[in-house]
Amino acid sequence: MPDNELYDLVIVGGGPGGLSAAIYAMRAALKTVLVERGAPGGQINLSDEVENYPGFTRISGAELAMKFAEHAADYGLEQVTDDVSAVEPGLDFHTVRLAGGRQIQTHAVILATGGSPRRLGVPGENTLHGKGVSYCAVCDGFFFKDKNVVVVGGGDSACEEGLYLAKLAKKVHIVHRRDALRASMILQKRVEDDCNMEVLWNSVLTEIQADETGVNNVRLKDTQTGEERDMPIDGVFIFIGFEPNNELVPAGVKLNSEGFAVTNEKCATSIDGIYAIGDLREKYARQIVLSCADGCMASLSAAHYIENRKAKAKEEVCEI
Ligand code: NAP
Repeated sequence: MPDNELYDLVIVGGGPGGLSAAIYAMRAALKTVLVERGAPGGQINLSDEVENYPGFTRISGAELAMKFAEHAADYGLEQVTDDVSAVEPGLDFHTVRLAGGRQIQTHAVILATGGSPRRLGVPGENTLHGKGVSYCAVCDGFFFKDKNVVVVGGGDSACEEGLYLAKLAKKVHIVHRRDALRASMILQKRVEDDCNMEVLWNSVLTEIQADETGVNNVRLKDTQTGEERDMPIDGVFIFIGFEPNNELVPAGVKLNSEGFAVTNEKCATSIDGIYAIGDLREKYARQIVLSCADGCMASLSAAHYIENRKAKAKEEVCEI
């Protein structure tokens, strides 16, 4: 990819949204490059099983990611493995700078950078990350075979990951700050039915402690009585939602109070030619199928935008 070559579209991020955007962009014959710093698929690579992507009753996240990537590659998609260091909006074209030094000029950019696990912010969390504190059951669950773990959170992630851990661990204690789970009913029912799982209602984790071998205790507080207690434990898994990866969103793009990019229904941000999709975008629900839908919408919309720009530029040349 020579420097200064003008692209129609740069997609930043190769998760489900980015790869879906790439499929639609290639089908619309847009000159497209997708930049991803890691393995294609993003967060779904960390999911043990996906059960709600239509067409697949049950499929591992990694396999679904591979299928998305193969589908996009089948259209001859150009892919670059690098970190994007900046997205700079311009009047004639936008510039995407890569950490490796390249800069790509483009009519449109789709930001599909997703999110990262939210931190609890309690003492011990950062220092013990990797020593008994984890944000990924599929990655680290094996180390807790026949051990006792707590899972913090009450959403789909906490329940899904907790259910995965319950197949390995001796006991999974879900620590939830309220008296009702937020997760979908099907997951709630599975948690309820799993004799290896117990929900500690109205409880928050206030501190994680360790000995020389790693995590060995958590401090819990009852949110109703204020009572505190110690609970000996081998591992702590935290699933309390996601923060948007919005570092590359250029100044001028409107973010909501939680940092998610505000877009219209076509996934267009407040800067012409810059789109935000998937978990980066403000929306009601976060699902793989919705990220894919966003990718479709953004690429179709970008294709229309680029076509108009090119037509306008042609008219201007003819007038001269
Ligand atoms: P989420 O739905 O936002 O749930 C976060 C959970 O953590 C909530 O129960 C929340 O409690 C709790 N929480 C938040 N901050 C906390 C804090 N500081 N201390 C203690 N608890 C805290 O997040 P998620 O489960 O990661 O899911 C994110 C999105 O992905 C959702 O839209 C979800 O539906 C989707 N998702 C879907 C699937 C699936 O369909 N299979 C799987 C995974 C994720 P409250 O309930 O009291 O707010």
